[in-house]
Amino acid sequence: MAPLTIRQYGDPVLKQRTRVVEEIDGKVASLADAMLETMYAAPGSGLAANQIGVQRRIFVYDIGEGARTIINPQIVESDGEWTYDEGCLSVPGLSWEIVRPNAVHLVGLDLEGNEVSIEATELEGRVFQHEMDHLDGILLVERLDEDQRKEAMKALRSRTLGLPARDPDGLSSLLSM
Ligand SMILES: [Zn+2]
Repeated sequence: MAPLTIRQYGDPVLKQRTRVVEEIDGKVASLADAMLETMYAAPGSGLAANQIGVQRRIFVYDIGEGARTIINPQIVESDGEWTYDEGCLSVPGLSWEIVRPNAVHLVGLDLEGNEVSIEATELEGRVFQHEMDHLDGILLVERLDEDQRKEAMKALRSRTLGLPARDPDGLSSLLSM
C-alpha cells in the first residue's frame, strides 16, 4: 500500500471533531496500518485519522520505541508544564515553541480492544496532546500565543493552499505529528 495524502492546513476535515469507534474490526486494523505507513513516510512521530480524512477517534505514534495505535483515547489527567518546538504534518515546514502540560495520563483501547493506560511525559506526552487536539478538530496554530499566531498567519498566507510546502532542510520533519 502506498502512503496516503496527508490533509493540509485549510482542509475542513481538520476542523471537525472525530467520532468514537464503535467496533474494532479488520477495517480499523487496515486503517491503522495505512496511518502508520503514511506517518513513517512523512516522516512524523504521530498521525491522527482525520489527517488522512477519516473522521474516527484513532491515532498512531512512534517516538522511537515502536509503533502504537490508540483507539478512542482520552486524557484523564495532566500535570506540569513543558515547552517544546512542535510541528504538524498538516502544517509542514513550520514549528513553534508551545507550552503544554508535561505529564499526561492517557487511556484508550488497542487494536485488540484491550484497555490501555499510559502515563507519559515530554515527547510522548506531547504527541498525545497534539493528536487529541487533532481528533477534536484543533490545529496547533490555535495553541500559539498572540505574537506567534500573527507570524504563523503571515507564513501560512504566503503559501498556496493545497500545495504541501517543502521543508528543504528537513529540520522540522522529525518534530512533526
Ligand atoms: Zn499534527
